[in-house]
Amino acid sequence: MELRKDPITRSWVVAGHPEREKVRPDPCPLCPATHTQASTILYLPAQGPWQVRVYPHFRPLYRIEGEPGREAEGIYDRMAATGAHEIIVETPEHTRQLAQMRDEEIEHVLEAYALRIADLKRDARFKYVTVFKNQGGQAGEEWPHAHSQITATTFVPRRILYELRAAREWYRDRERCVFCDILRQEIRQAKRVVDNAGDYYAFCPYASRVPYEVWLMPKTHNHQFEFPQAGENRRNLANLLGRTLRRLLKFSESYHMVMHTAPNTLQTKGELSEYWRTIAGDYHWHIEILPIVQQRSKSYSIKEIYFNGTLPEEAAERLRKIDPGK
Ligand SMILES: [Zn+2]
Ligand SMILES: [Zn+2]
Ligand SMILES: [Zn+2]
Repeated sequence: MELRKDPITRSWVVAGHPEREKVRPDPCPLCPATHTQASTILYLPAQGPWQVRVYPHFRPLYRIEGEPGREAEGIYDRMAATGAHEIIVETPEHTRQLAQMRDEEIEHVLEAYALRIADLKRDARFKYVTVFKNQGGQAGEEWPHAHSQITATTFVPRRILYELRAAREWYRDRERCVFCDILRQEIRQAKRVVDNAGDYYAFCPYASRVPYEVWLMPKTHNHQFEFPQAGENRRNLANLLGRTLRRLLKFSESYHMVMHTAPNTLQTKGELSEYWRTIAGDYHWHIEILPIVQQRSKSYSIKEIYFNGTLPEEAAERLRKIDPGK
């Protein structure tokens, strides 16, 4: 496996054949009875029987050993696929989904996200730590047993890079965080806000890419999910996430969820030393949930341009009307 950079869009592509380690779906490799290997990185809660368990992915896209060793191939850039790839098993129970969990259980999953992000960011080789979840067959989930994945990469993924650049420019021009600006306006207009719990808000973004896209964000400014600010309480976030996922279930069983938090600023090579100067003020962590809803005008949904047949205002209104239960 290697990383190749598209010289025009500047996005990195993982290229090559993943190792064909034999991981049969049956019996489920994430069930406690099947997966007994001692490679566990983290158990939560720390005391008593575990609920969340983290270990290295069976077929990692990235390898933890070695240096990225960036090199040129003519005009092109390539580097080794150095990084980390972990699985977060969210529950020992095979059929229990995140949306069905109690708030304190969801909080343990969020806590695992935070602990792994903070730990992997201590490695200066890694520029970004991504936490994501593919739920349901249509989202390309690998196993039906509830799990999330973490990757630590020697590059910043493209969409994050776009966000970081845009947020930095907004801040430079206005000395305000663009995400704070967005959330203030959404709360004031109350058209696209779906729900809130404590400091956290769930809303359908103005330019939603897919029907029922929802973002979760703290109102208190904070660039790093892994280090909560005073006023943030992850139990509330867990509550809001559970409620949001249960609402979305009415429209789709499948979704992608991704955590967007600040990059690893330990990397200060070259131009980067100046680059992150305003990151604490300009960036704002959030969770993006992209449900997979079948659309009629499928031919328009080519990857280059998003076509969304449901206005976010309508989506938010329908989501608000659903009783999220518990
Ligand atoms: Zn299982
Ligand atoms: Zn902010
Ligand atoms: Zn984002």
